[in-house]
Amino acid sequence: LMDEVKEKMKILEEKTGKKFGDPKNPLLVSVRSGAKFSMPGMMDTVLNLGLNDETVRGLAELTGDERFAYDVYRRFLSIFSDVVLSNLFTRPDGEKPNLDRSRFEEILERKKKERGVKYDIELSAEDLKEICEEYKKLIESELGRPFPEDPWEQLRLAIEAVFRSWNNKRAVDYRNFYGIPHDLGTAVNIQTMVFGNMGEDSGTGVAFTRNVATGEKEIYGEYLVNAQGEDVVAGIRTPMKISELKKRDLKIYEQFSRACEILERHYKDVQDIEFTVERGKLYILQCRAGKRTAKAAVKIAVDMAKEGLISKEEAIVRVEPQQITHLLVPRFDPQEKERAIREGRLLARGVNASPGAASGIAIFDADKAEELGRAGKKVILVRPETTPDDVHGMLVSKGILTQRGGMTSHAAVVARGLGLPCVVGCEEIKVDVERRLFEVNGKIVREFDEISIDGDTGEVFAGAIPTLEPKLEEERELSELLRWADEIRRLGVWANADYPRDARRAVEFGAEGIGLCRTEHMFMETDRLPWVQKMIMAQTPEERKEALDHLLPLQRGDFEVMEGRPVVIRLIDPPLHEFLPNYDELLAEIFELREKAKESEEAGRELSEKEKILSVVRSLREANPMMGLRGCRLGILYPEIIEMQTRAIIEAACEVKRRGKPVRVKIMIPLVSHANELRWIRERLEAVARKVMEEQGMEVDYSFGTMIETPRAALTASEIAKVADFFSFGTNDLTQMVFGFSRDDAEGKVIMPYTKMGVLEKNPFQTLDVEGVGRLVEEATKAGKAANPNLEVGICGEHGGDPESIHFFHKAGLDYVSCSPFRVPVARLAAAQAALAAGVEDRTK
Ligand code: PEP
Ligand code: MG
Repeated sequence: LMDEVKEKMKILEEKTGKKFGDPKNPLLVSVRSGAKFSMPGMMDTVLNLGLNDETVRGLAELTGDERFAYDVYRRFLSIFSDVVLSNLFTRPDGEKPNLDRSRFEEILERKKKERGVKYDIELSAEDLKEICEEYKKLIESELGRPFPEDPWEQLRLAIEAVFRSWNNKRAVDYRNFYGIPHDLGTAVNIQTMVFGNMGEDSGTGVAFTRNVATGEKEIYGEYLVNAQGEDVVAGIRTPMKISELKKRDLKIYEQFSRACEILERHYKDVQDIEFTVERGKLYILQCRAGKRTAKAAVKIAVDMAKEGLISKEEAIVRVEPQQITHLLVPRFDPQEKERAIREGRLLARGVNASPGAASGIAIFDADKAEELGRAGKKVILVRPETTPDDVHGMLVSKGILTQRGGMTSHAAVVARGLGLPCVVGCEEIKVDVERRLFEVNGKIVREFDEISIDGDTGEVFAGAIPTLEPKLEEERELSELLRWADEIRRLGVWANADYPRDARRAVEFGAEGIGLCRTEHMFMETDRLPWVQKMIMAQTPEERKEALDHLLPLQRGDFEVMEGRPVVIRLIDPPLHEFLPNYDELLAEIFELREKAKESEEAGRELSEKEKILSVVRSLREANPMMGLRGCRLGILYPEIIEMQTRAIIEAACEVKRRGKPVRVKIMIPLVSHANELRWIRERLEAVARKVMEEQGMEVDYSFGTMIETPRAALTASEIAKVADFFSFGTNDLTQMVFGFSRDDAEGKVIMPYTKMGVLEKNPFQTLDVEGVGRLVEEATKAGKAANPNLEVGICGEHGGDPESIHFFHKAGLDYVSCSPFRVPVARLAAAQAALAAGVEDRTK
């Protein structure tokens, strides 16, 4: 590799007219990473490489600025030690050398104190020279060898260190989080140095070609005068807005905006550009596709399609479906927020770096944030500034607040990617990490105190503020993008909704039907539970009927909301014991009552009531309830329940129709594993449906179908399809039974360790296991449709809202997916992307 490097370095030397290691005219380079997916700040970079005791003098002469040259040298010694030497060398005693940046900072601080100055800039060339000497002494004492003065050795070591940084902890954590494969590896780039710290006519900045927070078409970024790039990215100094640069130096600004235009047109995407001005000359250091908020991603894609830069199809592909969930991020209830302001709880205002509103307890270090966040606490991570070492804590926080840094600081970039509300550069607050508090205008906020942040406005509040859910119809560009997606997708998108309010939400989000209404969830509402218990324990059909009548009004509500869209109502599914008191608790109560009953008649009566319940509960207990008396088995063994449910459903449908509203009812039978089960039930329930319609004197549009959620049902789909009008894959149960993983507790106990160890790539309850479960889905769909050409096939397991799984369902030939309401927009977009991807595949076949 080094032969190749040498060859290419020659080209750099020719182009710059400088020479690497030349004491008179030294070429200095930076060594940086370059991975397929940008991972901002996660890997290492070495700047100013090529400096040693000789070349530093050359640099001083060349620039006529000795102070500058030694300042650069000082920086190089420190960064090279931190990033390269401490990672590649061991001390003579075999220990890891301690060459952290902080040790170099200490020396610098000591020198400033000695000189009685406050800022680095006040140190003289002589001071800086002495500092460099001290730095080298420190290095030698830690390594047992002198600092490598040979630039070629420096280069070789730096290349190795940057390659290795692919595997440092923060890069690994970042890739794990974003699902970036670990075997991609990184390139290493060697680039000529230019200097933004050569005086007032120099500077450095980071800018986006459009506003990456809102999507507006405007150059958006920051500039620091007389500084090097790392000062901007590290977020240590709060820079000026790019619009200030326009006022300061119009010529440079105009040159820069032309470069923005050219780069954007070339890459057909928003660019994140690092640039430096060295003594009035503009250099572009790097550009990459800009990370953006969900809001900006959608607006930019839609705008670019309208500008003719990209096609509508491209716009659809540009937006990550999961990202649009962020668009639907919560905001503070305006009245509550106003109240907080009136109450004097507005503490400060910082930079609004990433939208959304959040409340939580203030936590001042990433480890603790991680621990509490994982334990389910709402945490706002408060830091002086964040660095990549804080990422693990950021991942589980609800929001990020920093005292320093700007829009392009680490905290801002990472939070936007995560869709987390984030306020940065909030200089009014003084964060004291040691004492775990921040001070703001005479007030103190301590660890565990509740605070709220508004990432849209940059405001920071004391105490919690209730949030409001966002509304899709207010998101103009998203609605437009989703309309384009609707024109392209073949898959229908329905929603799982158990209550009218969910159904309403689902329709707002664009659902075309209800793919699953779990009737037992209606039973679970607290005011209904006693009726369900009565129904189960009823001794006579009359008693049962009275209990079941309470289902009717609710069912009606659903139909009204859906206004003629199809509604799949699933008959009772889970084991009955779930509706009854817990066996162990009941037993404990009975023991207690037995004592009391010796003295009180009232307790005696209660005891005999509880004993009756206990005997029912005991008789319903099962060793393996997930595979026991549930689903259609329950309907066959206790037919009154499903007969009553059917009666309630058809009566409700008739009533809605009578009011002039259309209804389409689909009655779904769960957990079928043999065609005979469905046949048995269907005959009975159709008789009930006909009878009710006769009584009501009207016909309603209804059909009967089944869930395919046991392996046997999938394997015998052609038989089952003969008795079903529709299939809906219950991929939750199907995954449970195909893997033999309990859906109740295997995720924590087995699947998470498995995915960490690499035994499984993904959690199959989240993303469909295409090879196993998927194979059954695909074959059952084919067989079912062959046996019954009118068969409608959908999916209503959790996978219905997962973009990757949606791609598979498209290919497998399903008619629709059904998912939770807030994922409906995600599914609409993913379904369009699936159709586009499949189109490309067809064309390449
Ligand atoms: C399923 O099993 O995938 C399903 C949708 O039903 P439930 O989750 O209610 O068992
Ligand atoms: Mg199920």
